Amino acid sequence: MVVVIILSVVVSVALAALLSFASVALYVEEDPRLQDVVDLLPNQNCGLCGNPGCKAMAQAILDEDAKLSQCKPGTLEMREDIRDFLLDHPDESGEFVKVKM
Ligand code: SF4
Repeated sequence: MVVVIILSVVVSVALAALLSFASVALYVEEDPRLQDVVDLLPNQNCGLCGNPGCKAMAQAILDEDAKLSQCKPGTLEMREDIRDFLLDHPDESGEFVKVKM
């Protein structure tokens, strides 16, 4: 019984250390505007835009790989809000996203 408990503790500590290392080694810096664009989308995660969800669509918008009109549940007001947000928020190097309506 004691051996099982000790083994469980050792395995738990090893897995925690592995996860901690992986979170540092595999960290990917995210565009700080990404969550703002996600919040402006309908967040239905329906996939009608051809992306696996709203976060992927937001990334595609920031990468200039998607038109805002691809979001079928999205309204004209939503598209204008995203366009206006991105016109006010360049990236860290001062570049603006060329928004495709
Ligand atoms: S179509 Fe719009 S609501 Fe649906 S996943 Fe794409 S961005 Fe989200």
